[in-house]
Amino acid sequence: MNIAVASNAVADRAVTVDSADYYAALKSRAAEIESRYRLSTPRSAENFRRAATVFPGGYTRDAIMRGPHPTFVDRASGASMIDVDGRTRTDFWFNATSLPLGHAHPAVVAAIQNQAPRGTAYYAPTMHEVVLAEVLLERLPGAEQIRFANSGSEAVMMAVRFARAYRSPRSGGARGSERSQVVKFEGSYHGSYDDVSWSVSPGLSEVGTHDAPHAVAETAGLAGTDGRVVVLPFNDPAVLRRYVEVHHDEIAALLIEPMANRIGLLIPDRAFLIEARALCDRHGIVLIFDEVIGFRVGYGGVQGLLGITPDLTALGKIIGGGFAVGAVAGRSQILDLSTPDRSHRVTHAGTFNGNPMMAVAGRATMDELTPDAFDRLAALGAYARAGLLAAARGLPLQVTGEGSLFKVTATARNLHDYRDAATADKRWESLCSLALLNDGFVLTPAIAGCVSTVTTREDVDALLSAFRDIVTM
Ligand code: PMP
Repeated sequence: MNIAVASNAVADRAVTVDSADYYAALKSRAAEIESRYRLSTPRSAENFRRAATVFPGGYTRDAIMRGPHPTFVDRASGASMIDVDGRTRTDFWFNATSLPLGHAHPAVVAAIQNQAPRGTAYYAPTMHEVVLAEVLLERLPGAEQIRFANSGSEAVMMAVRFARAYRSPRSGGARGSERSQVVKFEGSYHGSYDDVSWSVSPGLSEVGTHDAPHAVAETAGLAGTDGRVVVLPFNDPAVLRRYVEVHHDEIAALLIEPMANRIGLLIPDRAFLIEARALCDRHGIVLIFDEVIGFRVGYGGVQGLLGITPDLTALGKIIGGGFAVGAVAGRSQILDLSTPDRSHRVTHAGTFNGNPMMAVAGRATMDELTPDAFDRLAALGAYARAGLLAAARGLPLQVTGEGSLFKVTATARNLHDYRDAATADKRWESLCSLALLNDGFVLTPAIAGCVSTVTTREDVDALLSAFRDIVTM
């Protein structure tokens, strides 16, 4: 079996420069980098001013926020995106990892062109959603059933609802008392649902002790955890064990992102996930893996890579072939709680759940993603990480990731948990990312990236060369 290791586990990470001086050098060029961006994107700036008259701050989606303004896209094909000023850039983020075949892949375009004239959504099921469900379940050996939703956030929300219902005596599936608590881990993002919007990116002055982190609200407008959500440190099996052994009677679910985006797209130590699985087995707790991004690392997601099976998996992004999607997959004993004939059932509606446009695009995408395709993606991802690591040698920069995904983090610390990642110099990262954008490469402002099947080795070489110039200048 292919056992993944955290890719930052390298021996030669000795930093040979003063970190503060190093970050200051790029930051001293901020005005020049930003002005180059402004000069090359006048139409985007104009569009952004117009957007700001209808959207607060100019945005209707937080993730794409970037200073001085976002790049408005005109069209995209393969790995190329063309902005409204006519500039072509190479995409290394593919709508937040959700387009593993790149933009406008012919198989996906054909599928949606075939479906669109037949109607885009009906108040009735189609076989397209059934087929996509079959295709996905075949890849997740521990999952027997699935329900579609319209975003990863909804998928997590439904997984949490199922887990709490499963632990309720009224559900008929329960073996214990009412349990409502969800344990999540510091630094993990699980979407915009209130119950998981705690300690996603808290400031280091607010986090409390390592062993008993504070649950820090990620957004205004939360009603309080009310004991329903508890935050523990990511990647620490001993703290997890101590907490669960005392509180298991209150815990409905452990919610884990087995490849943590905000901690460098890092897969935790296998021992952490094995401990979580064992504790859930021992105490009848539902183990939820949030693989909304992780499902991109291999044919069976992170769980397939590690051979650790959760009870429920939240999915999203790639499974919709570029359309809005989410899904919760898992053991039928739990998902059965939403069968229509139950008295105290888990309800789950959604006007566009499993809609045919998403389903045909998702199926066309998954069909292309064979085990061989994942091997090629992983090889190119490893090539990108190795190149970034070589460029970062001696510098206070970490290079992590897995499969097709990579991330550069501006810290001298090896990444193991959120508090390591939170030492990053975010301003340096966003300037480095903006400089890359000026050079024609689209990554996140936190320098996260990924390759898709359309990405070539030449694309990666060009990115590496630009990165080398920026980090060594
Ligand atoms: N979970 C994880 C791990 C994610 O990365 C995301 C989105 N980036 C979500 C959940 C939420 O998905 P969506 O944006 O589709 O609501």
